[in-house]
Amino acid sequence: MTRKKQFIVIGLGRFGGSVCRELVRMGHEVLVMDMDEHKVNEYANIATHAVVADATDEQSLRSLGVRNFDYVIVAIGENIQASILTTLLLKELQIKNVWVKAKNDYHHRVLTKIGADQVVHPEKDMGKRVAQQMADDKVIDYIELSDVYSIVELVATSKLEGKSLLELNIRARFGVTILAIKTGESINISPEPDYRISVKDMLIVIGHNDDIKRFEDQAM
Ligand code: ATP
Ligand code: ATP
Ligand code: CA
Repeated sequence: MTRKKQFIVIGLGRFGGSVCRELVRMGHEVLVMDMDEHKVNEYANIATHAVVADATDEQSLRSLGVRNFDYVIVAIGENIQASILTTLLLKELQIKNVWVKAKNDYHHRVLTKIGADQVVHPEKDMGKRVAQQMADDKVIDYIELSDVYSIVELVATSKLEGKSLLELNIRARFGVTILAIKTGESINISPEPDYRISVKDMLIVIGHNDDIKRFEDQAM
C-alpha cells in the first residue's frame, strides 16, 4: 500500500463523499468539512474527523490547522463562487496539493489561474468513459496516456481462441504490445510469445489508438 497520507475533503456531495470513502478504505486519514451539519453527521463514523465549517471563512480554515495537510480536495460543485474562494484561501495558506472539482470550463480556467494544482470534471470524464465502453463492447477499461496513446483492457473474442501471440504476430502486424493477460483472478505479466489466448482472457494492450483500433477490428 502507498504511504499513509492526510487529506481534507471539503464538500460532502456524492463526489466528495465518494472520494472520502475511498481514501478511508485505502487506509488514509481524512478530515471532512461541510457547512451542512446533516452531511457532516453522515460521515462522522466514516471519516477520521468530521467538522461543520464554512470553507470560505479564512479563520475557520486557519483554526482547523489545514496548513498541516498535504492534500485538499474542494468538492463544492454548484456554488462556483464558494469553490473559487475556498481554493484561493487554500493556496494562500500554501497547501501544496489542492485538487478542485470544476462545474464547467470557465470555472476550470479561473481555478487554474488562481493556482489549483489539479482540476477534475467527474461528470464530463465519466460521461466520456461510459460512452467509450458502450460504443465498443470489447473495451472493459482504458487509460489515456496522451492524446494518441492508450492502455486498453480488451475481452478476448472467440476469433482469438487458441492462437498464440507469435502466430498472431501482434507487435509486428499492429505495432501494439500485450502488457499482461488477466484470466479470472490471475494475471500473467509480459506473456511469452507462445502464450495461447483463451476466450476467458482479458488482454491489456498498449499502443497508438489507431493501432489498437486496427488490432481490435482485424484480429479480434
Ligand atoms: P454532487 O457530487 O452530489 O454532484 P455537487 O458537486 O453538485 O455534488 P454541491 O451539492 O453543490 O456539490 O455541494 C457539495 C457539498 O458542498 C454540499 O454538501 C454543500 O453543503 C457543501 N458546501 C457548499 N459550500 C460550502 C462551503 N462554503 N463550505 C463548506 N461546504 C460547502
Ligand atoms: P519484435 O521485434 O517484434 O519484438 P521478437 O522476435 O523479438 O520481435 P518475440 O518476443 O520472439 O519477438 O515474439 C515474436 C512475435 O510475437 C513478435 O514480433 C510479436 O509480433 C509477437 N508478440 C510476442 N509477445 C508479444 C506481446 N506481448 N504483445 C504483442 N505481440 C507479441
Ligand atoms: Ca451536482
